[in-house]
Amino acid sequence: MKAIVVREFGGPEVLRLEEAPLPKPAAGQVLVRVMASGVNPADTYTRSGTYAVKPELPYTPGTDGAGTVEVLGPGARRFKPGDRVYLARSISGTYAEYALAAEAQVHPLPDAVGFSEGAGLYVPYGAAYHALFHHALALPGETVLVHGASGGVGVAALQLGRARGLAMYGTAGTERGRELVLREGARAVFDHGDPGYQDALAHAVEGRGFDVILEMLANVNLGRDLKLLATRGRVVVIGSRGEATITPRDLMGRRGSIHAMTLWAATEAEEAEIHAALAAGMEAGSVRPVVGRELPLAEAAQSHRAVMERGAFGKIVLLPQAARG
Ligand code: NAP
Repeated sequence: MKAIVVREFGGPEVLRLEEAPLPKPAAGQVLVRVMASGVNPADTYTRSGTYAVKPELPYTPGTDGAGTVEVLGPGARRFKPGDRVYLARSISGTYAEYALAAEAQVHPLPDAVGFSEGAGLYVPYGAAYHALFHHALALPGETVLVHGASGGVGVAALQLGRARGLAMYGTAGTERGRELVLREGARAVFDHGDPGYQDALAHAVEGRGFDVILEMLANVNLGRDLKLLATRGRVVVIGSRGEATITPRDLMGRRGSIHAMTLWAATEAEEAEIHAALAAGMEAGSVRPVVGRELPLAEAAQSHRAVMERGAFGKIVLLPQAARG
């Protein structure tokens, strides 16, 4: 099979398309024919070799994917060959024509949800759900600012929050991104590149502040987020790419709090809740991943450059089955 193989940590150019042996499922494992692989910013951090998650070399990247069940290992009984599924991690990596997974990492994908959309489920929606409902404990009627709402996690947060009765607000850096944020359920959208947009944010909630802020770039925004919080407001740090300076008094007077999360630390029970909520959301039509860009697997390096650029629009996915074309 074709797979992206990383033999040394480094820039996007270390993502090389190679011929790799087809994995054989052992007991309790499932081989999935990958139709689409989701590209997440964390894939680029891992590839660079500077991240907390540092796999043994060589490795095939990719946590998210969707496709069909190809072969079941002994004792794997939850699926049958041909079933449509999405992956929430895998054993062998999803940037490949086939991925080996433990049965527990495989989840049903309804017919109404395409494979590319399915590849945008686990990390983005899992992170958004974990932040909103396990950390912020957001309640219907509360106001939520999604600071960076045009990308994978942001769109997921807007959809999940709106379906739960939260009043959602978002930011994006481009006109196209802002249109997407409004379309996906924000009451109002702001340009995080606009000088003074924080004043406009404060005005949008009549100076009361936001009950919850989901932060995608804490190194840039955390200090100012604290000034935008309501009494007992909570910031949840989802993404950060450097150091941040805060003024603790901004929290003290508000009885505010800062939470910080990674999906990798979610418990088994939290994971089960996430997948149950995603199944219900897909059935109800409220969970609908937005795919902004599809690239052939051979262009994995380009996908890693693109996911780190400004101007996000939902998800970027790779199409492994185009690898032979
Ligand atoms: P993405 O699809 O690349 O989207 C990035 C988002 O950040 C876009 O909405 C982008 O807006 C926005 N952004 C850019 N500059 C910003 C600024 N100055 N202020 C606020 N937002 C800004 O990435 P993603 O998949 O949504 O992930 C978002 C972040 O969360 C990443 O840092 C990622 O590593 C992290 N993450 C963490 C976890 C976890 O477990 N903690 C899980 C998933 C993702 P424009 O492009 O429109 O400017």
